[in-house]
Amino acid sequence: MHITEIRAHQPPTPGSPDDWRTQLGQIVVEVQTDSRLIGIGVGGGGAAGIHVVETVLRDLLLGREIDDVRDLHREMCEHTAFYGRKGLAVMAISGVDLALWDLAGKEAGVNVAILLDSDIDLTQTLPTYSTVFDDEDAEAAINAGHQAIKLHVERFGDRPETREIAELVRRTRERLGSAAATIMIDAFAQWDVATSLRVAQAVAPFDVAWLEEPVQPDDLAAYAELSAKSLVPIAGGEHEYLAEGFRELIDRRLHAVLQPDINWCGGLTTLIEIYRMANDAGIRVCPHRGCEPYALPAIAALDPNPLAESSRKWFRCLADAPQIIDGRIQLSSRPGFGVTLA
Ligand SMILES: [Mg+2]
Repeated sequence: MHITEIRAHQPPTPGSPDDWRTQLGQIVVEVQTDSRLIGIGVGGGGAAGIHVVETVLRDLLLGREIDDVRDLHREMCEHTAFYGRKGLAVMAISGVDLALWDLAGKEAGVNVAILLDSDIDLTQTLPTYSTVFDDEDAEAAINAGHQAIKLHVERFGDRPETREIAELVRRTRERLGSAAATIMIDAFAQWDVATSLRVAQAVAPFDVAWLEEPVQPDDLAAYAELSAKSLVPIAGGEHEYLAEGFRELIDRRLHAVLQPDINWCGGLTTLIEIYRMANDAGIRVCPHRGCEPYALPAIAALDPNPLAESSRKWFRCLADAPQIIDGRIQLSSRPGFGVTLA
């Protein structure tokens, strides 16, 4: 199977946030082959990502045989290393990598999950969590069947009143009952170490499973201090890239939970590598937006403690995406990632 064409476009995303997630938003990559199969992947980077796909990556891959996706992934990374070891170029590579894995599944006639674990049960459902803004929505999400909820606390700002956040978590825990449901907090990378430690101390009595991205992703010294001192486990990695980036986070044990985004971090090839390293180190992986179609096969096949994050509401460019029913998400059994263009 040889690659005959590579295209990318940015689908409209009505309702997406008025920030980089729209301006540099998700792109759909289509890889055509001489076997008439078309692979569909989703990456990021908006117009910049499309440019990377349709120039340097297209030049590299056109006419190439798809044998082992991992080899082509390594070549794409080396080919873009002088300008793109993190960020937009890797987001673009992610889309191509996922389209290639989609083709690998389609050529074999099996779902990608089968490529990762030939014994996997495709009828299984996976537990999910939902991101909410207050205790009322948290209770509704747990009643709807989600195993866990994550409180989004960005609105409290970069110098939050600790007791306001603690009060929100206390109210939420009270509504959900003790240990009946898991509560997490997402800080949105805007605090400093002192603030993060203060908040962790204040919410720890309410049994919080993780504090997510309290500080900027590159402030590894801050993560080192937090991982040593925080009373609540620290999660992060949503904005880290490629196995090399995650290797440092894992070797230094900077997080209790890693949250790679398969559509940004380098695609499935990278996520497989992250799972291997993290599983070896005994560090949990809980992929960003795990309920969207691309991370699900890896979560089902590679994750000893699966929990899929609910999708972003504006992610509607694909048809036949797995649905959440009673709080659990069903795997696709169709070949590849099982999706078509909406
Ligand atoms: Mg997050």
